[in-house]
Amino acid sequence: MTLLHYLDANASEPLRPEAREAMLAALEVSGNPSSVHRAGRSARRLLEDGRETIAARFGGNPAELVFTSGGTEADALAIHALGRGRRLIIGATEHDAIRAAAAEAAVLPVDRAGLADLDALAELLADGPPALVCLMLANNETGTIQPVADAAALCRRHDALLHVDAVQAAGRMRLDFAALGAHSLALSSHKLGGPAGAGALLLHPQVTALTPLIGGGGQERGRRGGTPATAVIAGFAEAARIAEPIAEHARMRDALEQAAIACGAVVCGAGAARLDNTTCLALPAIRADAQVIALDLEGIAVSAGAACSSGKVAASHVLQAMGLGPLAGQAIRVSLPWNASQDDVAAFIPAYQRMVQCLRAPLAQHAA
Ligand code: PLP
Repeated sequence: MTLLHYLDANASEPLRPEAREAMLAALEVSGNPSSVHRAGRSARRLLEDGRETIAARFGGNPAELVFTSGGTEADALAIHALGRGRRLIIGATEHDAIRAAAAEAAVLPVDRAGLADLDALAELLADGPPALVCLMLANNETGTIQPVADAAALCRRHDALLHVDAVQAAGRMRLDFAALGAHSLALSSHKLGGPAGAGALLLHPQVTALTPLIGGGGQERGRRGGTPATAVIAGFAEAARIAEPIAEHARMRDALEQAAIACGAVVCGAGAARLDNTTCLALPAIRADAQVIALDLEGIAVSAGAACSSGKVAASHVLQAMGLGPLAGQAIRVSLPWNASQDDVAAFIPAYQRMVQCLRAPLAQHAA
């Protein structure tokens, strides 16, 4: 069996051992955090400790943190609650979690590096009733980092609210919700090295009333019904506490990119500030799914576009919005996890070179 080199962190980070330990300990607590007895109070303590850890880590206020089932629900809750009575404006490269919840939104164009056009945002904001703007901090496919603080300042000038999807950014770059000036921010546990099944929405203290997406027993101060997944949240909190940008990632990513460029690849998003762990490599004329399969046979796990859509063979809406034309169906995403090693890089480079040779051969024959 070939050794697996897991380079698909943006789909899910490997579970951190510390998060696993925290979950195992939390599983021993059997109470419901809503119960008043001792067991309930123990569960409540776990939940509130987790809330404090995550809020403190990302510049939020524990009282303004709503636990959800993940990033998708946090995005949907923000749009449902903050978007009430407002028109919606979303970035063209937002994740499907945003696109699905804001299907009628006006779309903000991006440039070839994937950066949102803030002049276009200013024009959209000046023209019409108050809006809710959704702009992600870092893109899941290219790693492109958006000028969110500038967008927030623009939104405030026009009485608009700003929701930030920070699912891919959290733990991989500096993130301070209070300093960003946004009104809400979505997080997801499994993108930080915690377990899947938990996420959070951070709210600005100005956002006082929040209409829940899911009603029920008044949990989360009436903002999200349902018994919270205490053990999963304990793992989420531990992962959030220890997740930090990794200094070697940029060097490893650059080595991968140089090798890929030497094989004729195009780096999508090059020129913009990007997450150090992410690169999006397009190979002209070679389908993304064929590349993913060929690398999988070599024991290298990467993905084509967003994880949620890699089951279907569709061109990436992110790369299309960046004006990359046919390359939008010919790009793979390589994303380094917290535990990536030089061995992974050393294995990827020759595997990529063999993959290019092998997939190009039929094209050369066809042309001959
Ligand atoms: N937002 C972004 C930018 C993502 O990359 C993802 C998942 O890939 C999500 C939201 C959805 O998060 P979750 O899988 O926790 O629902």
